[in-house]
Amino acid sequence: MDLGIRDKKAIVCAGSKGLGRGCAEALAEAGVEIVLNARSADVLEATAREIAGKYGVKVTPVAADITTEDGRKAVLAAGEGADILVNNAGGPPPGLWSDWNRDDFIKALDANMLAPIAMMQAVLPTMIDRGWGRIVNITSQSVKAPIAQLGLSNSARSGLTGFVAGTSRQVAGYGVTINNMLPGIHATDRAISLDSGVMKAEGISMEEAQARRARTIPAGRYGTSTEFGSMCAFLCSQHAGFIVGQNISLDGGAANISV
Ligand code: NAP
Repeated sequence: MDLGIRDKKAIVCAGSKGLGRGCAEALAEAGVEIVLNARSADVLEATAREIAGKYGVKVTPVAADITTEDGRKAVLAAGEGADILVNNAGGPPPGLWSDWNRDDFIKALDANMLAPIAMMQAVLPTMIDRGWGRIVNITSQSVKAPIAQLGLSNSARSGLTGFVAGTSRQVAGYGVTINNMLPGIHATDRAISLDSGVMKAEGISMEEAQARRARTIPAGRYGTSTEFGSMCAFLCSQHAGFIVGQNISLDGGAANISV
């Protein structure tokens, strides 16, 4: 399917690895120019070179922390006039409800709520003027089915979900769509770090920790960044203009909910 977005320009935040990279690759495959962000310059530049070489599109790496104002300024400067924005950042650490103080919450809110909101506020005026735009936020299955030990993530991502629910309806009439993608367990570094925690806490091997988790997923396996990226590119395509303010689970059926 031709996604109809060749030669458009996208900002992909936190995209040198994992789900963000999956989104960047799928957009690049559709012919989209990418401004690619992450903090570690070496990994980021290598990823940017690989994507540019593989898909023949321009990929501009911007090494910056997207949770900071300076970081966002640098990304937005390179991504000026972007037609597409994919918001993403690292997820907060797991723990117990009593573990976290105000600073921990502020850090989680900065990364998983306030940074994506600031990015949306920055790009929306141009998208609205142009009459076309696509924004996708990478959130988490924990928005629909909270994960007990991810209290920081549950809290911050719920705030972002609320903002998107209202804002997406305010901008839809200008040809701009905002949707959220809710990953369940995917085979990325984030999943490895969560599984390492289980491995240590339960005194089991990594293979057993992964097998146990896979058994909780009806699809019987972890998702892939490629599958995730394909959905992102579709949501950013010409075909997805009537999909507004949705929270789309990509979790292999893990969240046992009917809608
Ligand atoms: P990942 O494989 O660890 O990749 C994270 C990417 O984000 C890396 O490119 C990393 O590069 C970049 N990054 C992290 N913090 C950043 C920051 N402050 N500024 C700029 N770039 C930053 O993670 P993932 O699995 O793709 O997860 C992406 C998001 O989905 C996270 O919020 C995660 O919590 C959420 N999620 C993931 C899963 C899963 O199973 N994978 C499930 C539910 C939710 P640098 O470290 O170099 O900056």
